[in-house]
Amino acid sequence: MRKVIYPGSFDPVTFGHIDVAKRAVSIFGNLTLAIVLNPEKRGLFTLQERVDMLKQATKGIKGISIDTFDGLLVNFVRQNKANVIVRGLRAISDFEYEFQMALTNRKLDERIETVFLMSSEQYSYLSSRAIKEIATLGGDVARFVPPCVAALLRRKLSAANRS
Ligand code: ADP
Repeated sequence: MRKVIYPGSFDPVTFGHIDVAKRAVSIFGNLTLAIVLNPEKRGLFTLQERVDMLKQATKGIKGISIDTFDGLLVNFVRQNKANVIVRGLRAISDFEYEFQMALTNRKLDERIETVFLMSSEQYSYLSSRAIKEIATLGGDVARFVPPCVAALLRRKLSAANRS
């Protein structure tokens, strides 16, 4: 069986990520959503919060597990004895960055294949960044993220407004 890793910031997880994850697990039978700890890209949510949200959001989807990593993605993939990386594509604008990263990872380890999946078109414009912007400006994000994410976003933003 091919072991498959879906890496990302997931800051926070959206229905777009979940849609890609469901498609991947239906093809491969297993999927590890791996949250990257990037010291240069401080997120709104802590690593633990992201893990908790991902666990809740994917509860009940068979074959999915959650993990975290820092450092090189190909090292994490090798440590897990995986050989496929899944990434999502929304629009042409994602393509250049993703293409560059996939080819770089192939240079680092040619046994690791990157597979791109597209979310359903209703989520194809969704990004974690847009969610944070909408929520900060007082908009309702319930249609775009699982309830646990919407609730934590509200708590975070009201705490930030009080301080
Ligand atoms: P990163 O910071 O690594 O880009 P993200 O959490 O923003 O992490 O995204 C992880 C992956 O999921 C990326 O490949 C991204 O293109 C993809 N993705 C994010 N949102 C969507 C969406 N709405 N539809 C399809 N793919 C998506």
